[in-house]
Amino acid sequence: MDVVAYVIGAACIDTLDRSCVDVCPVDCISADEGDRMLFIDPKVCIDCAACVEPCPVEAIAFEPDLRPEWKEFTRINRMHFEDPAAARELVESWVSRQ
Ligand code: SF4
Ligand code: SF4
Repeated sequence: MDVVAYVIGAACIDTLDRSCVDVCPVDCISADEGDRMLFIDPKVCIDCAACVEPCPVEAIAFEPDLRPEWKEFTRINRMHFEDPAAARELVESWVSRQ
């Protein structure tokens, strides 16, 4: 069953300043070496919204409120915690379509 959580969208790509990581009370925002953005683990996120305001590029939103053009980032965030390489490919694919 899908969990409704906060999602990091495309604006994070190549920004990566990690302001969100510092405020998350459950440490559910992460990335691997070489990733071009950070991801929120939907299974751990407690929907507290603490990460939204510190993000300098407004990349983070509650999933139902995510910009329509960023809808696939719901899947990309979740996928990072299941298959990081696949998530990275989806990010590259998104970038190549811009
Ligand atoms: S909404 Fe709260 S728990 Fe979820 S990623 Fe943001 S700071 Fe962490
Ligand atoms: S604060 Fe925003 S831009 Fe910075 S790492 Fe977090 S989601 Fe990405």
